[in-house]
Amino acid sequence: MSDREARVVEQVEKRLFLAGKWQDSSSGATFGVEDPSNRKVLCEIADAGKEDGLHALDAAARAQPEWAGTAPRERSEILYRSYQLLMERQEDLAVLMTLEMGKPLAEARGEIAYAAEFFRWFAEEAVRIEGGFATSPDGKSRFLVMRQPVGPCMLITPWNFPMAMGTRKIGPAIAAGCTMILKPAQQTPLSALALAGILGEAGLPEGVLSVLPTTDPGGITEPLLTDGRIRKVSFTGSTAVGRKLLEQSAGQVLRTSMELGGNAPFLVFDDADLDAAVDGAMLAKMRNIGEACTAANRIYAQSGIAEEFSRRLSERMGALRLGRGLEDGTDVGPLIDEKARDKVQGLVDDAVERGARVLVGGGPGEGPGHFYQPTVLADVPFAAELSTTEIFGPVAPVLSFDTEEEAVRAANDTEFGLVSYLYTQDLNRAMRVSEALETGMVGLNQGVVSNPAAPFGGVKHSGLGREGGRVGIDEFLDTKYVGIGGL
Ligand code: NAP
Repeated sequence: MSDREARVVEQVEKRLFLAGKWQDSSSGATFGVEDPSNRKVLCEIADAGKEDGLHALDAAARAQPEWAGTAPRERSEILYRSYQLLMERQEDLAVLMTLEMGKPLAEARGEIAYAAEFFRWFAEEAVRIEGGFATSPDGKSRFLVMRQPVGPCMLITPWNFPMAMGTRKIGPAIAAGCTMILKPAQQTPLSALALAGILGEAGLPEGVLSVLPTTDPGGITEPLLTDGRIRKVSFTGSTAVGRKLLEQSAGQVLRTSMELGGNAPFLVFDDADLDAAVDGAMLAKMRNIGEACTAANRIYAQSGIAEEFSRRLSERMGALRLGRGLEDGTDVGPLIDEKARDKVQGLVDDAVERGARVLVGGGPGEGPGHFYQPTVLADVPFAAELSTTEIFGPVAPVLSFDTEEEAVRAANDTEFGLVSYLYTQDLNRAMRVSEALETGMVGLNQGVVSNPAAPFGGVKHSGLGREGGRVGIDEFLDTKYVGIGGL
């Protein structure tokens, strides 16, 4: 580790952020956080257990009424100060994120800015929570509609966007007046602990937030979800874990927001601007080393341009430099762990066995880290396993199609429905296909859809609810109607 890296790791609190105070876990247990680029342990941090979860819940339940009664402007200002602190410390936080997650430093900087924007956006939303007033149709009564915080929330986040997935949930929860317990991913807890420190500095009252890294995720979250005092769970992660949490939420009839897995189709029609489509595919595929729920998983190119598109894409992918995210010139970092790399290799092998051609890449990178080469596969048969499985790595399979109907049918032939991408210059086709695609989001002639000011989320097995945009705060608010009679 360089001096700068050691300093950044040194600065982070290694204890639990329990009800606004830094504390060791009740058992005294710790666990190691690894750098995926060299498998070295960066540091040891406190490992929360069931008791710590219950302490956090006691604090969240206790703090809820007073927190719900704070002035919206006060909550807004805490968020705005946190936004400023994140941006002031962008560089150190980016280094920390790259160390624990592996993404290239430039992308980590981008994620800090993206994460901070959720706080700025929800600082603005906190003071715009509106209700309604109406006269009943028969004129005999009046309706007063008010919005109130849902109550204590359980927030569970994945490792691939360690900061932004936290702020995307914490931002609206604070804006709405909910208390919360955040359980970050085991592989990337340092960003979440740094975020907790920033929120504390920004003036978040004690008890409103706890951050509990743990090696026993289910052991902590299940007792909380079944307790009755938690009123909502907001989860980002795999569909399999999301289903389990939905089952656990049923007992106490919890509000749920689920941002789950994806299998994004990327459609390129003959009439597309091919340069723009290749640029878009590079972004949609390679953002975050391909480890994004929004990653283009299946690229469908119309037969007239499929070969040229694949050639240009391979040229761009082949020019990318694989390496440690903190080294200058690195375009692609390591995958998160060995299991992830083995999974990607298995999917590539399966496609090749079924007749796909490797245009570039196709194997692991060098060194002790979990590197995988940027890969383009052509002539991928529809039956290949990667057509139905989230790849979560730097592999771009190109499949070809003849007609618009065939492309839409293939794009929708999946249980997932998070995002799809579409490149065409024909306005009618753009509208027709956008309406026909069964996904919560469509990137029309653009390769990135994530934006704090837009409603992010999926349909089908990709999830429930939306994060960000005007509707993001709704997930943390209940609607109460007061019927006024005696007029
Ligand atoms: P994951 O295995 O589902 O883990 C996500 C989180 O759930 C982690 O904090 C994990 O803790 C926790 N968890 C695991 N088992 C649990 C249990 N039984 N009870 C409670 N919590 C549990 O997913 P991942 O591999 O970290 O992330 C990749 C997945 O997230 C992909 O499918 C990706 O598409 C999806 N994702 C979706 C979005 C979206 O917005 N739709 C955004 C980003 C990622 P541990 O770390 O301890 O396992």
